[in-house]
Amino acid sequence: MSEGPEVTRAARLILGLRRQGVTDPRVLAAMEAVDRSVFVHPHFLDQAWEDQALPIDCAQTISQPFIVGLMTQALKVEPRHRVLEIGTGSGYQCAVLSRLARYVYSVERYRSLLREAEERLRHLGIDNVITRHGDGGLGWPEQAPFDRIMVTAAAPGEPRDLLTQLKPGGVLVAPVGRGSVQMLHRYTAEDDGSYRRESLCEVRFVPLVEGKASEDG
Ligand code: SAH
Repeated sequence: MSEGPEVTRAARLILGLRRQGVTDPRVLAAMEAVDRSVFVHPHFLDQAWEDQALPIDCAQTISQPFIVGLMTQALKVEPRHRVLEIGTGSGYQCAVLSRLARYVYSVERYRSLLREAEERLRHLGIDNVITRHGDGGLGWPEQAPFDRIMVTAAAPGEPRDLLTQLKPGGVLVAPVGRGSVQMLHRYTAEDDGSYRRESLCEVRFVPLVEGKASEDG
């Protein structure tokens, strides 16, 4: 069958992720089920199942699968959750989250990236993702509060506006820092309105940029 080599490559990637510490079976199953080759630029098709970040349009990147696995696992998503993702990019992380959550809300500042991501998600038959062209730094107040929030671009500092859109007990995972290397933080909203912060590991993300991109207004 023509699927053969793809299945083998996916299985090899998943095995590698498990070896590196992504052990949540639901996360691994979701990542095995989402065909990453749909989300990479055609030029990099042969590297779709390699554990590396790849360039996408608008000088952005599709994250390294290990980081997608790590962040998704850290988010502790449950099937009834409404999840907010900031930085739709290729739509890959969004597709993985869509298999674990009830609804995924995803915000992207480049309209062209968002349109392409929407097209891919539609092509894969994913119908529980709601997207928005906008400044994700502001979150999505009309849809808040969320059970989980994942930021896939580096926030310069504590993502305050987003934290206020978490439910009590909610979890937010975000790379935080202004340099080329940032710290991946997990915030847990306590019942008294405070947040517990854990530092998970160093990561490299493109920066969270204020405002909509000016490519097309
Ligand atoms: N989750 C993506 C990774 C995207 S890279 C994937 O799986 O492919 C980070 C993305 O965040 C880029 O597409 C970038 O345009 C977007 N971004 C950066 N700042 C943003 C902001 N303020 N609001 C919304 N999206 C933003």
